[in-house]
This record gives sequence, structure tokens and C-alpha cells, in this order.
Amino acid sequence: MPEGCCVCHSCGREVEFSQEELPCDVLSGWLMISHMKGLESVDNYNFCSFSCLKRWAASQIPEIPEIFLKSLGEETAK
Ligand SMILES: [Zn+2]
Repeated sequence: MPEGCCVCHSCGREVEFSQEELPCDVLSGWLMISHMKGLESVDNYNFCSFSCLKRWAASQIPEIPEIFLKSLGEETAK
């Protein structure tokens, strides 16, 4: 019987560990992120590698619309 499991928030990789196994041993190399959103509001995310964390973090950053960058470029060109 698996005691628990951990799913990578980015690639979906799943690791199960039984009672006999130490989670810290099975989850070696994994990264656990806590996103504080306010009072008693915390989102926890698990990632199996730095590249998964990086990919997820990049997707959380809002992209600057290209049209906005273009208009900035036109302003400074004058
Ligand atoms: Zn992953």
C-alpha cells in the first residue's frame, strides 16, 4: 500500500512511497514550493527538477504584449 504520492506540478511525473520508505529519500532532488497568498492561504507545488520548476515559474510570469513593446520602441525612436 503506498503511503503517499507526490506529483510534479509541471510534467506530471508521479512518485509513490510506501510506509517503509522515507519520503525525503524517495523525493531526493524534488523541490517543494509554498506560494503564500495571504492569511492562511497557501498553495503548495511540487517539482521533480529545477527545469520543471523553471518552466512552471516562466508560465506564471505574464508576458508583455509585443504591441506594447513596439509602441515603446517608436516613442524612443523619435
Ligand atoms: Zn517534473
